Amino acid sequence: MFDVSFIPAFKDNYIWLLTRGQRAVVVDPGDAAPVQARLQAEGLTLEGILITHHHADHQGGVAELKACWPVAVYAPGNESITGCTHPLSGGERLEILGTPVDVLAVPGHTLGHLAYYATGRLFCGDTLFGAGCGRLFEGTPEQMSASLDCIAALPDDTLIYCAHEYTEMNLRFALAVEPDNLALRERIARVAALRAAGRPSVPSTLGEEKATNPFLRCTEADVIAAARQQNATVSGKKTAIFKFIREWRNNF
Ligand code: ZN
Ligand code: FE
Repeated sequence: MFDVSFIPAFKDNYIWLLTRGQRAVVVDPGDAAPVQARLQAEGLTLEGILITHHHADHQGGVAELKACWPVAVYAPGNESITGCTHPLSGGERLEILGTPVDVLAVPGHTLGHLAYYATGRLFCGDTLFGAGCGRLFEGTPEQMSASLDCIAALPDDTLIYCAHEYTEMNLRFALAVEPDNLALRERIARVAALRAAGRPSVPSTLGEEKATNPFLRCTEADVIAAARQQNATVSGKKTAIFKFIREWRNNF
């Protein structure tokens, strides 16, 4: 199994660095410079690149990295990705740094969005965030809801490595949805302490997300009631609640 650490990029992106000895793979290198600096500082050899989706903050550094490291680039086959060598659509099993990695199709934020699952660790890009989920730029609420179901079916102790530090903002919204959720209040305190100490709130665990993330809680009575309180006409159907909560979050 590889080790995981983060390379901060832009304002709030995390580029995940997977290492095994001096061998390295990066997930979603939106910017090459901080990756190159880290590889050089630690004497690492880049062996591959995993891409979750086509947005520039996730693939913007690929061309520059490939000019230096002619490595394999695993990416959604139906999205435009610079230098993609292994187009994927979900369902594949890869071997990354000697570790099996399952590719999951999780459309919603974009249509080709992928997540990479390596025993107990999920790299999910902009699909699931700490206490939130990605915006629906390309997919439908039904697609995103099904993608979140697919993630929710993983073991509760799965570490969720998302691509942005959005947790505090998301928790503020989650509290508006569920003011009486004690696990949520406890998480807010914990994340505030981490952030005040300059530490990331990511990774979280899937169990923690299931207890506090409103987008994974669309069948909970309190979440349904909160949605209905905002708009009495919203149906109790899971995808209708998801769609409503997502729109509520967009305007929060
Ligand atoms: Zn994105
Ligand atoms: Fe992003």
